[in-house]
Amino acid sequence: MATDAARGAMTTRGVRLHTDGLRVEELPVPRPGTHDVLVAVRAAGVGGLEAALATAAAGSPDLPLVIGREAAGVVADTGGAVDDWRIGDRVAVLPDRVCGVCPMCTGGRENLCVSRGLAGIDVDGVLSGFVAVDADRLVPVPHGIGFPVACLVPDAVGAPYHALKRAGVGDGSTVVVVGVGAVGLHAVQLATLAGAEVVAVDPDPQALQRAGVWGAHLVDATATDPVRSVRELTEGGADRVLDAAGDPSALTTAVGCVAPGGRVVLVAGGGGDLRDLDAHTLVTRELEVVGSYGATAQDVGELFDLLEEGRLDLTSSVTHTTDLDGVPEVVRRHQGEGPRAVRTVVTDLS
Ligand SMILES: [Zn+2]
Repeated sequence: MATDAARGAMTTRGVRLHTDGLRVEELPVPRPGTHDVLVAVRAAGVGGLEAALATAAAGSPDLPLVIGREAAGVVADTGGAVDDWRIGDRVAVLPDRVCGVCPMCTGGRENLCVSRGLAGIDVDGVLSGFVAVDADRLVPVPHGIGFPVACLVPDAVGAPYHALKRAGVGDGSTVVVVGVGAVGLHAVQLATLAGAEVVAVDPDPQALQRAGVWGAHLVDATATDPVRSVRELTEGGADRVLDAAGDPSALTTAVGCVAPGGRVVLVAGGGGDLRDLDAHTLVTRELEVVGSYGATAQDVGELFDLLEEGRLDLTSSVTHTTDLDGVPEVVRRHQGEGPRAVRTVVTDLS
C-alpha cells in the first residue's frame, strides 16, 4: 500500500553520475520488491567519498548511477513480505546492500558480507527523493533525532564507532586518532565518551580546533616529529591508535604512536602500504594492526540509543546544508584538495 506521496509521485528527482559528470534529473520512483521498503528520503549526506567516486568513475561503462550512501527518511511503502515496518516509520538507511544468508551475515558481521555492494558505488545510491531498500537494511530513528543528524549515523559515525570497538577502547585508555576529518572527529568524540584520553593528529589547524572542542590533546602532523610529541603526551605511546587518515604517511605515524602491546586500527580505506611496516618492530613490540570496515546494524542501533539518551550530541556534525541542485557544486568542492572537517547534508530532495 503506497502513501499518497508515493502514489502521487511517479517520478522523483535524483543526482546521477554520467560519463560526462553529475546531473540532477527526473527519475522513476523505484518499486519496492517483496522484501523491500520504499523510503521517502528526508536527508542525505554528500562528501569526500562521493567526490572520489565521481572522479574515479567518470568514463565507467556502468553509468549512470545515483550517487550517495547516507540517508534517513520515512517509510512510504512496503513490499508484500515486509512485516517489521509501517508507513510513516522514521528510518536510517545502512550504506551496504548485503545477502543476508552468508556466514558473515548470519553471524552478525554483515558489514563483512561476502557479496556486499555499497550504495552509490556498486548499486544506485540514495541522493534521490525515494529509494527502495531491503527491509533488513533499515534502522529505526527515535523521535527527537532530526533526519540530517540521523542520516550520518550509519556511516560517518558508525564506522568510527565500530573501529573503536575493534580497538577495544575503554575507560582510562589512551587513544590516538590520526586524521580528524569527518570520521576521525567522530572517533575523537566517541572515544572521549568511552572515557579514553584522546590525542588528535592532523595537519589541518581547523580540523585540530574542532577535535579540541571534544577535549582531545592536539598534535600538528606537519611538526618536525609528531610521533615524538604523541609519545611525550602519552608517556611512551598510546594503548590504541586509529588511522582515520588513510594516506601513506599516516600509517607509519600511527604505528609509531602505539605503545608496546598496543593495537592500531585502520578505519580509512585506501592509502598506506603495509610493506612500509617493519615486521621486526611488530614482533618485538607485540603490536597488532587490524582493519575495520563500516558498521553493523547492531552498532548503529546502539548509537541511536546513545543519541536518544542524550549521551551523544551530533548537532555540530552537520556543518552545511543544501538542496539536490546544490549537490554537483558540493562534490566539485570536495574534488582535488577539498574541504576537510566538513559534512554537507542535503535536506531538500524534492
Ligand atoms: Zn552476506
